[in-house]
Amino acid sequence: MKKILLVEDEEGLILTLTDRLTSEGYEVESATDGDIGLSRGLTGAFDLILLDIMLPGRSGFDVCRRLRQGGIPAPILMLTARGGVVDKVEGLQIGADDYMAKPFEMAELLARIEALLRRAIAWAKPAPETFRFGAVTLDFTKTEVIKDGQPVILSAREFQLLRYLIENRGKTLTREELLEKVWGYDASLFTRTVDVHMAWLRQKLELNPKAPEHLLTIRGVGYKFAEA
Ligand code: CA
Repeated sequence: MKKILLVEDEEGLILTLTDRLTSEGYEVESATDGDIGLSRGLTGAFDLILLDIMLPGRSGFDVCRRLRQGGIPAPILMLTARGGVVDKVEGLQIGADDYMAKPFEMAELLARIEALLRRAIAWAKPAPETFRFGAVTLDFTKTEVIKDGQPVILSAREFQLLRYLIENRGKTLTREELLEKVWGYDASLFTRTVDVHMAWLRQKLELNPKAPEHLLTIRGVGYKFAEA
């Protein structure tokens, strides 16, 4: 049974979500403030974390950042009452995998949870392999990325995108293909999503993100990973 950690302070929402997720066959534990959420999340006992942003104690952003720093690889889906692109960008940059603005449709939330869990299983498959390019070393088994001897924090999605590009290195991949293979579901997604994640990967991994040597744009088509 998949275990979900729900970090949320609105009692009504805790009840509704717990009820629905439980009836869908998930095991749900809830934490009502950021500090408890962080300490529960750091146990590594969860397959997925639903994380509110506005929380007593410690913000969802801070919880997310610290979970990633603590090496927790579980998909994190952020929930917020605040709308707007800023939260989304900030959340995804610090290692969240997806984002939903309240109020949301339960069916949509369930679809995203399923998609995130499916992806997590897909990349948890053993791949005893490391891969080097430029100043970067990737360890697929540990989902670890080192650049210039320093660990780089990638979101699960960024790691999956990078992995797919590397597995298909030398081949030009369209944005549509990347969306389908890496994100795996269509709801409310745009090819722009791919561009944003590519920009983040370049920022984190390329020596000069403005003149990338490995994560290349193929104009009018999509992207390609080049080894050298
Ligand atoms: Ca809240």
